[in-house]
Amino acid sequence: MSNDVTHSAFKYDYLGSDSKAIQRSVSNHLVYTIGKDPFTATEHDWMMAFSHVVRDRLIERWMETQRSYYKHDAKRVYYLSMEFLIGRSLINSLLNMDIHNACGKALKKLGIELERLRSLEHDAALGNGGLGRLAACFLDSMASLNIPGYGYGIRFEYGMFRQQIDNGNQIELPENWLVHDNPWEFPRPEVSYRIRYGGRVMEYQDSSGRRHFDWIDGDIVIAQAYDTPIPGYHNDTVNNLRLWSAKAHEAFDLNQFNQGEYTEAVVGKTLSENISKVLYPNDSSTMNKLLRLKQQYFFVSASLKDILRRFFTDHDDLHELPDKVAIQLNDTHPAIAIPEMMRLLMDKHQLEWQPAWEITTRVFSYTNHTLLPEALETWPVKTFETLLPRHLQVILEINRRFLLMLGHRHPGDMDILRRLSIIDERGERRIRMAHLAIIGSHKVNGVSALHSELLRNATFRDFDRFYPGKIINITNGITPRRWLYLSNRRLSSLISDAIGPEWVKDLSKIQQLEAFAEDHSFQEKFAAIKLANKKHISKLINYFLEKQVDPHTLFDVQVKRIHEYKRQLLNLFRAIELYNRLVDDPGCACVPRTFLFGGKAAPGYSMAKLIIRLINDVADVIDNDPAVSDRLKIIFIPNYDVTTATDIIPAAELSQQISTAGMEASGTGNMKLALNGALTMGTMDGANVEMREQLGDENIFIFGLQTDDIARLNQLGYQPRQYYESDPRLRRIIDMIANGFFSPEEPTRYRMITDSLLNVDHFKVLADFDAYMGISDQADTIYQQPDTWNRMAILNTARMGYFSSDRTISEYAEKIWQVSPVSR
Ligand SMILES: *Cc1c(COP(=O)(O)O)cnc(C)c1O
Repeated sequence: MSNDVTHSAFKYDYLGSDSKAIQRSVSNHLVYTIGKDPFTATEHDWMMAFSHVVRDRLIERWMETQRSYYKHDAKRVYYLSMEFLIGRSLINSLLNMDIHNACGKALKKLGIELERLRSLEHDAALGNGGLGRLAACFLDSMASLNIPGYGYGIRFEYGMFRQQIDNGNQIELPENWLVHDNPWEFPRPEVSYRIRYGGRVMEYQDSSGRRHFDWIDGDIVIAQAYDTPIPGYHNDTVNNLRLWSAKAHEAFDLNQFNQGEYTEAVVGKTLSENISKVLYPNDSSTMNKLLRLKQQYFFVSASLKDILRRFFTDHDDLHELPDKVAIQLNDTHPAIAIPEMMRLLMDKHQLEWQPAWEITTRVFSYTNHTLLPEALETWPVKTFETLLPRHLQVILEINRRFLLMLGHRHPGDMDILRRLSIIDERGERRIRMAHLAIIGSHKVNGVSALHSELLRNATFRDFDRFYPGKIINITNGITPRRWLYLSNRRLSSLISDAIGPEWVKDLSKIQQLEAFAEDHSFQEKFAAIKLANKKHISKLINYFLEKQVDPHTLFDVQVKRIHEYKRQLLNLFRAIELYNRLVDDPGCACVPRTFLFGGKAAPGYSMAKLIIRLINDVADVIDNDPAVSDRLKIIFIPNYDVTTATDIIPAAELSQQISTAGMEASGTGNMKLALNGALTMGTMDGANVEMREQLGDENIFIFGLQTDDIARLNQLGYQPRQYYESDPRLRRIIDMIANGFFSPEEPTRYRMITDSLLNVDHFKVLADFDAYMGISDQADTIYQQPDTWNRMAILNTARMGYFSSDRTISEYAEKIWQVSPVSR
């Protein structure tokens, strides 16, 4: 089909970006794509028609971008991630392509409000929290920096569950985000790969005596590609996110068909399509389910085959692969890519072990996201034996060679072999995916200075000695496009009026705002915007939750997954203490406050779900106490996701980042809130440490035990009950919870929480309570001096430039990937 004649005859329109052209395109799509006219069109029809208008403009730029990458023979970066938490795309695309105003105008002419259409879009919620959102910020930054970056993941039919709060309890509802059609994806049925599970390995020797391995039989599932365009900011670059969907193999159980077992064969078909059915809703903990491992291998194998196919379109020597391809593993979830690459290079492309290993380790790098032991992935060797027998062979050979080298370095030290082996031999033999990822990569990175330090000096200390310089730090960041330019339009305008618009693509420039920190009229404008944002979220709360909040109270925000280590309980204890003060001294000069909580609990995490219920029970008691309810309020905002985050964060004045020191790898919510002018109350954990350096100690409220304090406390034998006995405030709070003050209809409802705190308190809630109240009171004193507060808030926004994911991606590009922007 494709020859020079058809190519020269093939011409397509470049669609205009002015409001007239857009107005015309909307009308055309409403008629020709949706099949409606203005008399019959629903809002949803208009939304779909308009989305197609935007999609047309994306795809033009997408094709040009991809052509330019081929033309330049650019080195590509492949970001392999189980999760991409993107949220909505419509407004982001308009702003990044600089057609937002023209579109607003065009729609107005047609009698349509852009704001209405915006609210109809579903979130693409293919992730749990920080890890998936980081991947989404990275896609935006790679496109904005003209880096040839490709995301690869799974097109889950059901994304993150929708959270409903029923009588204070979390209810999980399935999120079938694709039912209303996803205008942002392009199905690519011609891009598909066969993915094998099970079967057996055949071994044979060729005439030259070389051993070959052939993985055969088992079950085949088809991975089919869907592409989502990722626009950069004002640079006409559009990169690609390729997500794989599982389809039954056409010949799936053909035997059964032939034997007349039609229904059984069709049931088998749906079983194989289950692989991309649903995202596991666990954050910071592993799911040892066979289906999860199948998902991992499914998208990894398809992605590697696709990467090699693209490489071979312009190259034929695999030794050049590391010069043209860098593959980043987002946590260990895709670590099976390392033995899969070895298998493809050796079994499919006939390379010997040594060159294959050299190529593999030069291509891969791995990002560690957590030190929590419950989140370090391992799989039983037995599971691999049946599901991925060839990969097990390769892993064991990688391990044999690694242990041989390690043994040479540490003669006679059996213990270090046991500690660093890929195989955990204690009990049922298991494969440690982190060890596999470290050994198979040329660089390993942590995600904040503190986290990387702990990786090097504690968790992976022996690996750091064995591979000096392999473990590095690259501190996380957030995209300023979504997390300020899009989500806080009012503040964006104020900033651009003051210092020009350059900060959107180079966030280091936002530092120029420091010059306005003392400017009284600027302070007032800054504060007026915060108030407007607070009024906006108050309206939403009133509309959706039928609760009244006073926008003139201090908005004190903790939004993130519900997890014991993130210590929502510590924050709630503070709320209860403030309640008790109001009860004891109704005339006190306390700062009127609204606590905003938001976050999902993993469905199987009963403690986290109980914490949600307690937050809601405490909120109810306060609501029903007329003596305090005008000065203290707790709101639990259901279904925290990217879209609710973009509504809540611009309205926040205090940001709670209070994880137990050493447990939050980085955090990115902390960055979003500070960038929007919220002051942080935080522990010396994750990126809080670097935020303190950037902001200045006087512009952040740091408190509590540090990592070495906690180690010491544990060594001495931490006794939480002592804090309960010696601090009457703590004693009163715990007694209230334990005795049913917040659950009179079921007094023992929270015994699991109080027992755990009094007897174990693994996360040091009681030990940090006093310091936390101290810093909270300090914050309140400053809040009562608005000039000081506003200056600090402005300085927060001005000094967060370092935390742009553009800076993060530039570091990956230079220190790990060795890729450069493609000039276009
Ligand atoms: C940024 C973000 C997170 C991560 O928040 P942390 O406070 O760093 O845990 C989680 N969920 C959503 C929806 C986010 O936007």
